[in-house]
Amino acid sequence: MKGAVLYEVNKPLRIEEFELPQTGADMIRVGLRAAGVCHSDFHVAKGDWPQHPIPTILGHEGAGVVEEVGSQVSGINEGDHVILSWKRQCGHCEMCQNGFPNLCDLPPYEFGLPRTKSGETMNKFVGMGTFSTSTLVPQDAIIRIDKDFPFAQAALVGCGVMTGVGAVINTAKVEPGSSVAIFGCGGVGLNCIQGAALASAEPIIAVDIRDNKLKMARQFGATHTVNSSQEDPVERIQEISGGPGVHYAFEAIGLTGEPFVQSIECTRKRGVTVFVGHAPVNTPLAMDARMLLHEKSIIGCYYGSARTHVDFYRLIGLYRAGKLKLDELVSRSYPLEGVNDAFDALAKGEVARSVLSME
Ligand SMILES: [Zn+2]
Ligand SMILES: [Zn+2]
Repeated sequence: MKGAVLYEVNKPLRIEEFELPQTGADMIRVGLRAAGVCHSDFHVAKGDWPQHPIPTILGHEGAGVVEEVGSQVSGINEGDHVILSWKRQCGHCEMCQNGFPNLCDLPPYEFGLPRTKSGETMNKFVGMGTFSTSTLVPQDAIIRIDKDFPFAQAALVGCGVMTGVGAVINTAKVEPGSSVAIFGCGGVGLNCIQGAALASAEPIIAVDIRDNKLKMARQFGATHTVNSSQEDPVERIQEISGGPGVHYAFEAIGLTGEPFVQSIECTRKRGVTVFVGHAPVNTPLAMDARMLLHEKSIIGCYYGSARTHVDFYRLIGLYRAGKLKLDELVSRSYPLEGVNDAFDALAKGEVARSVLSME
């Protein structure tokens, strides 16, 4: 198999050859066909999240074809088409039992690691390592899909779409007619926007510093756009909402503290802010301690409160019904060897999402 390895932060990934170990009894080997290039991978590549060990094969969004199943695996067969879910779920811990398998206690899968030619094991980002041609994963990481479903779109359902739409529908439970503001129109932010449209929010106000992203935001359902490099987003959001601010705000940038604080400031009394963006470790927030005075609240969001085995099928159903935009999210496709170009396009804000194609 081939994989794209991060050896050093802020250095290009290198494509290398590996050997996969034998498929263990509880493992499934998936031949990857598409992998989404997500900001989370880029965070690791930039050194924002030093808690993830390197060197590592990056990539955590993926879709492909089952190549081999271990002897204890049931219900999944060779040749099945699948989406990978990077968050493991045991089914019996407190969070799983309470309906929040996205917060399951299980750590990332650390078995079936690929080996280099000299026999050393190589890490895989969150146990996935989807910037590769094959990966070994446990059954709880697999959601089977119909064989006519396109791989690139499937890969995006596995993380960016689930996180953005889930933040609105699952985490915040936005009600029809609520006013919503979304900070950041990247892969996740655009999905917050279409989640808000699915929830019949009105208005849906998109904030970004790039006009090309704001144009995309309109395509995904934003009713108003604010370029925060040209005007104060908080004042403008209040103005659009008729004065009091919005019912819900979503921070989907995850780079610096300022937009997180603005996403709290722009809500009305009892307004709810959802932190969707995952900032670099130790990013401080400077805010007035009285900011929540009027019963405002802030909720964290992890993987859009995903119940993957239910929600992926709902998202696929919405796409099939023409209500969820997935084709429009796939801005560009690169071969595995083009991964560094895909990171460049992400850094420059040129794309909604790039996908690596291993077909
Ligand atoms: Zn669990
Ligand atoms: Zn992701």
